[in-house]
Amino acid sequence: MTGRPAAFLGLGAIGAPMAARLAGTRPLTVWNRTRSRAEEFARVHGARSAATPAEAASGADVVLTCLPTSREVEALLDGGDGLLAGLAPGALLLDCTSGDPATSRRIAGRLAGQGIAFADAPVSGGTNGAEAGTLTIMVGADGATFARARPVLETMGSRIVHVGPVGAGHALKAVNNALLAVNILAVGEGLAALVKAGVSARTALDVLNVSSGRSFVSETLVPERVLTGAWPRTFRLALLEKDVGIARQLLRDTGVEGPVLDLAGELFRRARAALCESADHLEAIRLIESRSGVEIRG
Ligand code: NDP
Repeated sequence: MTGRPAAFLGLGAIGAPMAARLAGTRPLTVWNRTRSRAEEFARVHGARSAATPAEAASGADVVLTCLPTSREVEALLDGGDGLLAGLAPGALLLDCTSGDPATSRRIAGRLAGQGIAFADAPVSGGTNGAEAGTLTIMVGADGATFARARPVLETMGSRIVHVGPVGAGHALKAVNNALLAVNILAVGEGLAALVKAGVSARTALDVLNVSSGRSFVSETLVPERVLTGAWPRTFRLALLEKDVGIARQLLRDTGVEGPVLDLAGELFRRARAALCESADHLEAIRLIESRSGVEIRG
């Protein structure tokens, strides 16, 4: 264990396996809203569990956050127990949340006033990629902060890319996930129609996946989760709906018309309302199945 002390806040579906990779490389303190999860993590991975964000950040060279949205990250800063009470001048806050650019720029501005560096560092690759340490991490930061963040992020990812200034990582991640959302809907609708037309889902995917319509959804997600009927819960649909919302805001901010993303956002909003908050993102296809009276199985 050679690295400088770090802290990780937010041990959710993706945060926990990311923190587990970090734990092997440096002294790690963890904090989670539900404390029992942090205590269990600390026991299993040889980390220390903190009672408050301030306690977690105290003495840490680098603090990582991975929460549902930027709102929760910003809310963690203030108060006697908050991050700002524990972060020392010279520390670095790396936010791995799929957050929004405007809030991150605001957070970065506040931290800079106290001599604390900030980078947005959202990730792609899912919980499997987090466990394997093969995430793609898109970093928004100035050059010096990126250079400092890279070795920490390399413990969790295999592609660490500096994509622009603070906020740029979140913007790129939101567009990536908006493309994922559009793909899920389009693949679900197309396969439902093909099955109803008498083509087996397996045959349809075999052909699509060597043709120009293929995607990560058709090549990996649908075969593993829909054809099998496994529907594992690894990435909440509510979080994907949030990401499409961030991408739509980016389009508005940049003056780009977005009828496709607007419709995808509305369809995911309805799916979120129809399903429970813990539903997985692929369960959008389940709704397409039930509306069209067909099952896409292999
Ligand atoms: P989860 O819903 O599994 O976990 C959320 C985490 O945030 C939990 O640790 C939860 O604590 C904590 N939390 C929730 N609300 C608050 C709050 N108000 N204050 C403090 N902590 C809070 O989410 P994921 O781990 O899946 O996602 C985290 C981020 O990573 C999201 O931005 C998501 O979009 C992104 N992401 C997720 C991927 C995935 O495959 N799951 C892939 C790529 C990005 P508690 O234990 O108390 O509930």
